[in-house]
Amino acid sequence: MHTLDDFGWSSFFEGQVTDDERARWTPGRVVWEGRERYRVSTGHTEWESRLAGRLRHAAATRADRPVVGDWVLTAVHPDNGGATIHRLLARRSRFARAAAGRATEEQVVAANVDTVLLVTSFNDDFNLRRVERYLALTWESGANPVVVLNKADLSADHATWRAEMEAVSQGVPILVTSAQRGDGLAELHAIVRTGGTTAFLGSSGVGKSTLINALLGDSRQEILPIRERDDRGRHSTSARQLFCLTGGGVLIDTPGMRELQLWNADAGLAHTFADVQTLAAACRFRDCSHGGEPGCAVAAALERGELPADRLDSYRRLLREDAFLRSRHDEGARLKRTREAKQIARAVRLQYKLRRR
Ligand code: GDP
Ligand code: ZN
Repeated sequence: MHTLDDFGWSSFFEGQVTDDERARWTPGRVVWEGRERYRVSTGHTEWESRLAGRLRHAAATRADRPVVGDWVLTAVHPDNGGATIHRLLARRSRFARAAAGRATEEQVVAANVDTVLLVTSFNDDFNLRRVERYLALTWESGANPVVVLNKADLSADHATWRAEMEAVSQGVPILVTSAQRGDGLAELHAIVRTGGTTAFLGSSGVGKSTLINALLGDSRQEILPIRERDDRGRHSTSARQLFCLTGGGVLIDTPGMRELQLWNADAGLAHTFADVQTLAAACRFRDCSHGGEPGCAVAAALERGELPADRLDSYRRLLREDAFLRSRHDEGARLKRTREAKQIARAVRLQYKLRRR
């Protein structure tokens, strides 16, 4: 049996609930999200939940809808095991991406993640540029990253790889693991036990599922798949997306986390490339593009060999990618404003006509 505290309930969330709300509603955490449907755990019980109509209409954008990891206030109906979600509490952190098929809308894929394990593996997947991207996404979300170098059994020379990773991770802890042989799993467990809510980022095949299974261990048998009834009354099952571990810690594993792109990540990029930013602060021109201007501190560091050229390239590429996504977003917002302005103009014209009649 779990309690709300096991799920990560804290004063940050408690402090948002008014006395009146506390009297009427029960706090819970979203452990599964389907289409317009949710599973909310109130600690000991799990409720099949829907959004209250008022909340559905008020949620102007998809970013305002609850997602896995969110804390919500619900009215529970013990007679039928259902619950209605009445309020979404403010998030401590959020992972967002451009909504599928609509580059202009933000979609949150997981909320209230405290620790992110950036998983890469020895040999095949080892890619510093990818780790930089994941670091930017993680800093941007408000969570804290830990780099996990998995498949240690595939390489005899961990020191070289670790040194390369250290140059990129800029002080972020690095853990070497082998899900197969068991190396580093005790340390990984300790991180997850004390790290609040943990999520995994990394390419397919690096061993995320294997690591998750190893972490779940004994908790596994408590985790029944979720049975769902679709609109035609057919039953299907689907995997849970948030797990409470025996001994402490919460894991989030959602499909959405696996397809993350950069999205409005300028703060995250600044954090990830703090070394480049520090150099750039010493350039003669404030808007220096580090492309050959006189007095460029970044170019000087490149020349002295203190800043690797591919790290600067990577920074530039990620900035461009982020700017591109943002420009599409701004264009979408502009079109929406134009549409709304036209609708208002039409409504005003109509009223004017009616009045003249
Ligand atoms: P995911 O796509 O990131 O979830 O990766 P999986 O957990 O499905 O693992 C992909 C493959 O890598 C599977 O065949 C695993 O058995 C294998 N694998 C996972 N961890 C290790 C490891 O530490 N060492 C080795 N050699 N293989 C591993
Ligand atoms: Zn410069």
